[in-house]
Amino acid sequence: MKMTEIDPLDITKCLRKQTAKPECSQKKTVDVPKKPVLEIPKLPELPEPTEEDLPKLQDSYPDYFHFEKGKKSRYFDLVYHGKRFNSAIYGTCNTIWQCAHRRKYRCSAVLQVSKDYTNFEPRNEHTHGNLKTKGESELFTPQQALPIMFRISWKKNQERKAKRVAMSRVMKERLKIQRAKAKAEAEAERERIKAARRKKPIPKIPEFPGPQPAEDELPKLQDSYPDYLYFERGPNTLYYDLVYYGERYNSAIFGSRYTFWQCSHRRKFKCPATVHVTNDYTEFERRYEHSHGEQPSTRNVELYTPKQALPTLFRICWHRVKETSVKRLQLKELRKDKILTEEYRLGDIHDEIPVEEELSFVEEQADDSDDSFTWAD
Ligand SMILES: [Zn+2]
Ligand SMILES: [Zn+2]
Repeated sequence: MKMTEIDPLDITKCLRKQTAKPECSQKKTVDVPKKPVLEIPKLPELPEPTEEDLPKLQDSYPDYFHFEKGKKSRYFDLVYHGKRFNSAIYGTCNTIWQCAHRRKYRCSAVLQVSKDYTNFEPRNEHTHGNLKTKGESELFTPQQALPIMFRISWKKNQERKAKRVAMSRVMKERLKIQRAKAKAEAEAERERIKAARRKKPIPKIPEFPGPQPAEDELPKLQDSYPDYLYFERGPNTLYYDLVYYGERYNSAIFGSRYTFWQCSHRRKFKCPATVHVTNDYTEFERRYEHSHGEQPSTRNVELYTPKQALPTLFRICWHRVKETSVKRLQLKELRKDKILTEEYRLGDIHDEIPVEEELSFVEEQADDSDDSFTWAD
């Protein structure tokens, strides 16, 4: 028997030819946005089958089938009861042979052959009669052709398996990359939100104009303060927030001897709770119960120990008390003036300035439920 120059087992050559084609066609469609092409991974070098890998060659085969091969053809054709089949599809258990005239005669006849070529199952009728073959073709008995057919089938199946494994590896790799990308994007988004939050700066404590307090006019800073007391400053805080036993207070009202701190959540929960503290921060009194449970603290706050915050608070208190007494004095004068004016006028004093408005010396600060803080005094 004459072996062919073209090795029918050389699958790699065929593969290379096939992969080369899409590259040429891609050049024609440059303006079309390229979809991510699932690259065919390079397959590992396939091993040769062992004796056990291949079906046993029978001692004899029925004479209704044999193989033929044209001089230029790479693969065998199967001739079964005078009908020619080619372009075999190699499954794991069967090989499906398709009618050689399927294109010309739109013939859907196929022949399913068991792996060892002992069982034949024709499917679908031929749309044509027996046809003569063009050109010369060499005849091969099953004994001659089958050892080669078995090897082709084995290799095709191995190749398919290897391809499936390699593709699943590529898919897994791609999925991993996609997940990592999604994770990175989510992380970037979180960072962006965080940065946007950080953008709202914590304002500086405003300077008080006019005369400044002398050292002995301010309370003495203690050597130590209880650890349930500290201060916070956030973007909505003008001066400081007081944290007392984990509860937040702000909008201090500065009196000459006491400072009254109001619950930070008084607006949201109509909370009446206050902390009354002596201006030297040595005596505390919590008044009224909170109308709400524990509230989460605002993010983006700076923490201050009493020793850090109190020197500033003492000065703020001094200025506020001074302002209040000046205001009171002015009001007294105003009232005196009004009474005097009234005495000289005859009735009709409607444009009176409301006394409460003038008396307001509360340091209104935005609480945590209020974002629209203004610097208005
Ligand atoms: Zn046919
Ligand atoms: Zn409260």
